[in-house]
Amino acid sequence: AWQAALGQLQMEMPKANFDTWVRSTELINYEKNTFTVGVQNAYARDWLDTRLTSTVSRILTGLMDSSQSVNFVVWQKNIEPAVDEAVIENEIEEEQREIEVRTNRTLNPRYTFDSFVVGASNRLAHAASLAVAENPARAYNPLFLYGGVGLGKTHMLQAIGNSTNARNLSVLYVSSEDFTNDLINAIRTHTTNQFRDRYRKADILLIDDIQFIAGKESTQEEFFHTFNALHGANKQLVISSDRPPKAMVTLEERLRSRFEWGLTVDIQPPDLETRMAILRSKAERAGRRVPNEIIEIIARQIQSNIRELEGALTRVLAFSDLSGMPLTTQLVTSALADMLPQHSSMEPRQVVNTVARAFGVTTEQMLGRDRSRGVALPRQVAMYLLREVANVSLPQIGQALGGRDHTTVMYACEKVADMIERDDHFRRQVVQLRDQLFGRTPMAL
Ligand code: ADP
Ligand code: MG
Repeated sequence: AWQAALGQLQMEMPKANFDTWVRSTELINYEKNTFTVGVQNAYARDWLDTRLTSTVSRILTGLMDSSQSVNFVVWQKNIEPAVDEAVIENEIEEEQREIEVRTNRTLNPRYTFDSFVVGASNRLAHAASLAVAENPARAYNPLFLYGGVGLGKTHMLQAIGNSTNARNLSVLYVSSEDFTNDLINAIRTHTTNQFRDRYRKADILLIDDIQFIAGKESTQEEFFHTFNALHGANKQLVISSDRPPKAMVTLEERLRSRFEWGLTVDIQPPDLETRMAILRSKAERAGRRVPNEIIEIIARQIQSNIRELEGALTRVLAFSDLSGMPLTTQLVTSALADMLPQHSSMEPRQVVNTVARAFGVTTEQMLGRDRSRGVALPRQVAMYLLREVANVSLPQIGQALGGRDHTTVMYACEKVADMIERDDHFRRQVVQLRDQLFGRTPMAL
């Protein structure tokens, strides 16, 4: 029956996935209508467990004419499970460090001019940033960089920051949301003077994602004064945005015109050669040898977002490490295949609306900036469901929830996963939402 089930699975699954994950499994026990199937390692077990338990049970039940279940266990022990866990823990630690870096508002040392790959799509932005870093307040002031998500705006701002910071200039890097929150706090605690001092003593102020101050009048007002004070004192301003000043509809005219005082440059999505160069550079930095052919497949598949491009490479390398399989085109296809076709039609919006209703908040609140617990928690639950059940990418989730950073989404998923483990009532609530949205799924919860 197991051989027959394999045959049927082979027809139902993408070939690459079948070859990677299923072909080498073997039946090791059958008892009380339960198939125990041996797999190579813990990673393969988790993969099969999460995605195939219900499909396989259904197929076996069909074949045997009575209800059957399946259980995947680690069988051949070529790879010590401890190794897997160490690798995974390392990755989690790295992610956490990245979150800390962001929330500490310090500069991330990874983002330098050296690690930035220059191509036609970003050549001008790179040259202008370099000029500004070498000659603050002399080259272009302000420098206004704009471009789509994941194209390197933050990287450029931070590269300017890292390079000038190393020369003992006082650098302040903040997102416009940080700026807004700082201001709100200062007003609340009657410390607006300190707030102004802090921002105005910077030699270089780097403001990331300025688009978020559009529509916020008092923040715009304060920023206008900060801008004037710094610019008047011959200090450098660098601003990034997802769109050019002209397209920021609710931006005050006086700010718009100031943004256009200096130089405005865009960053475009990278062409194939640049995408391949970025992957090569990233592999090299990680000390990995990746065949050109593999680099090209990944670069062809992920076209518009460099963060996703990097994520794809990490994923492919992890698949290879954890499964012990060589980097073949087949492994890449499997690693990048979207394995949850039954959910691909699920609109993120639907998840957001349903979760909002269940928690008694509005969709606007979910997409808004309110961080109080009553709103933040349902927002995080929606992120979790989109990530863990619907398999939507981190940046896409961020976008679906009002334009949040992928690290925010990552953090939310970890937090919800953690709460699920500790709080039974909460777990039931999430499971109920999951079933309501996706029907019963094989996801372990
Ligand atoms: P944005 O701020 O525009 O959304 P980021 O600066 O966060 O994008 O870039 C996303 C990821 O892609 C970062 O890890 C960054 O280091 C990387 N990246 C972007 N552009 C390049 C490039 N030209 N060369 C190397 N890495 C890049
Ligand atoms: Mg950014």
